[in-house]
Amino acid sequence: MSQINIPILDLKPQYQAIKAEVQAAINQVLDSGQFILGPVVQAFENDVASYLGVKHAIGVNSGTDALVIGLRAMGILPGDEVITTPFSFFATAESISTVGAKPVFVDIRPDTFNIDPHLIEAAITTKTKAIMPVHLYGNPAAMAQIMEIAAKHSLKVIEDCAQAFGAVYQGDSSGSHENCKETTREQLMGSYVGTIGHVGAFSFFPTKNLGAYGDGGLITTNDDDIAEAARMLRVHGAKERYNNLILGYNSRLDAMQAAILQVKLHHIDEWNNKRRWIADNYSRLLMDVDGVITPAPSAGHVFHQYTIRVLDGNRDRIKQVLTEAGIGSMIYYPIPQDKLPIYVDQYPDLTISNQLAQEVLSLPMWPELSLKQIETVVDSLKA
Ligand SMILES: *Cc1c(COP(=O)(O)O)cnc(C)c1O
Repeated sequence: MSQINIPILDLKPQYQAIKAEVQAAINQVLDSGQFILGPVVQAFENDVASYLGVKHAIGVNSGTDALVIGLRAMGILPGDEVITTPFSFFATAESISTVGAKPVFVDIRPDTFNIDPHLIEAAITTKTKAIMPVHLYGNPAAMAQIMEIAAKHSLKVIEDCAQAFGAVYQGDSSGSHENCKETTREQLMGSYVGTIGHVGAFSFFPTKNLGAYGDGGLITTNDDDIAEAARMLRVHGAKERYNNLILGYNSRLDAMQAAILQVKLHHIDEWNNKRRWIADNYSRLLMDVDGVITPAPSAGHVFHQYTIRVLDGNRDRIKQVLTEAGIGSMIYYPIPQDKLPIYVDQYPDLTISNQLAQEVLSLPMWPELSLKQIETVVDSLKA
């Protein structure tokens, strides 16, 4: 019998490490008697805005709501088209469909798992209003090229940052592919994701790399009008209470989650750096393994997930072997969004995305993972 037990994610060690801080913060909220929005949420919004270097940060109920409200605040209307990646969690396309717009899927690049910027222009029609790149697994998308295309065609950009809090745009990870103007790239280099497009949408779902202990989300923008619209939309479309101007939502960040996130924000750099260290070790140990492709080097990546490609149709067998050895792994995502039942037969095949859905495998990843545990995972995988 195997004594090994390494789950894909274990949130308990992190909580143990910050337990006293978190409980003090929660007690303060309980004592304050103010639970929805209010000064604790405002303090977190201010801190997170200055951490990221963005003018506005607006707390909402979830990452999905951040996308929906972000799209509406940018002015996306029913009938509009929004270009996005097929290779993401369904909330990405769902948010576009929810506002009545149409997701238009553009294939991804096999080295970054992110939208291929070279294919975007061919998908632009007279109805196209926005591009929604996803920084999948914590790896920044090719933002310089995306921003240039958007500027050229007067499109808005909304970044799905749900998996990428603290990720930094450092030029395209395989540079030569990103044939944009050098000035654009230089200007954006070093920016946190969520501060480059017109809107950034973050999720604080507990499993994300900055996770609350419940649902939560955040909209970021440098645009005062978008910020004002988003603040209205999150409280039933009102600027002042009981003076509702547009149809909105009940989508507020609650004070308890904001207090927890405020504590965690102070640790996020350390945790993201540990994720990078874990990824480096995985890649080093997996370097010579036949039939496995490790993630392409990417300086600003925060490794929300460490995801390999398993070639030759061996992915499901390897996943099974790991499970039997007591090691967790996950497939993000087994079905590309354009192939989900809700969109069935509406979209043409996208070769790379369909292929990667058969090859990707995410290995155990959380900041407290030890070198010994990493070695155990790799040894089991090699076996
Ligand atoms: C988690 C996730 C979302 C949705 O976030 P929620 O907070 O769960 O609503 C959106 N997009 C991506 C890429 C995600 O991983």
